[in-house]
Amino acid sequence: MAEPKKGYESLKAAVEKTIEGGKSFDSPEQLRKQMQWVLDRAQQYADACGVDREAVLEQWEKDRTYSWVNYYQDANQPDLSKYGSVVTLQKWMEEGKRLYGKDWLDWKFKCPACGHVQTMRDFKEAGKDPQLAYVNCASRHGLGGKKDCKWTTGGFLRIGGRYVIDSKYCPRLIFEFADKEG
Ligand SMILES: [Zn+2]
Repeated sequence: MAEPKKGYESLKAAVEKTIEGGKSFDSPEQLRKQMQWVLDRAQQYADACGVDREAVLEQWEKDRTYSWVNYYQDANQPDLSKYGSVVTLQKWMEEGKRLYGKDWLDWKFKCPACGHVQTMRDFKEAGKDPQLAYVNCASRHGLGGKKDCKWTTGGFLRIGGRYVIDSKYCPRLIFEFADKEG
């Protein structure tokens, strides 16, 4: 039998298989409801990125290497409607260039907790991974900011910052640009 096409088809096949397997603790109704959740979430990401739902589902299904029940959940595909600021990677890059120029090491990010403004250059010059500048407060690395802030977007509280959605429709929570308009 041919493999179902990645996207709606492969998701539906996986859901049916779980239902037919009869090993899930969830009832068929609950599993179908969970599938609807995936479709709704894919639509939300599609709207945020200006593509159609199938494009998102296809990518998610291609990247999914384990059970759909575990793959599709708030922790992996967070509800974007809870965040005022969601942007595609491409738009984010354009915004950064417009605000600070082509050299991304000079792009300025603001810690959502203590308000410290930091650049990737600050991190690079201290021998740290420059990309930490938009996910960790400098205080975590002894590079400035409020001493006991230590804010990170990788923490349990997923607040304060913005989601950037990459080309795989994968969201990353990062700090806002320090000089973001509006
Ligand atoms: Zn901070």
